[in-house]
Amino acid sequence: MIRRLLLEHMARGKCLVFSIDEFRTSRMCVSHGCQHQRVENFRIGGQGIFALKSCSTCRTVFERDRLAASAMAIILTTWEASQTRSLPWQRPGRPSQA
Ligand SMILES: [Zn+2]
Repeated sequence: MIRRLLLEHMARGKCLVFSIDEFRTSRMCVSHGCQHQRVENFRIGGQGIFALKSCSTCRTVFERDRLAASAMAIILTTWEASQTRSLPWQRPGRPSQA
């Protein structure tokens, strides 16, 4: 439903909608391109947090969806400039897919 509404808005020239392959977007460090590791047993207020990833290089801890959104912004920016997907997020065999 949301996708259909966005596409309708795009047809009226009110926004742009891009379809982006999610491959590696929640796994790769946006600074280093290294693969993040899942943070195990992290708890806040007694509740387990299961969507955290950490980078072994820069030791940054990210929430998985926030990390994916940052990666998709980079992918889209690169796509606009060069019509190629940024290297850390390229799916093997499909470098020209956004
Ligand atoms: Zn890193």
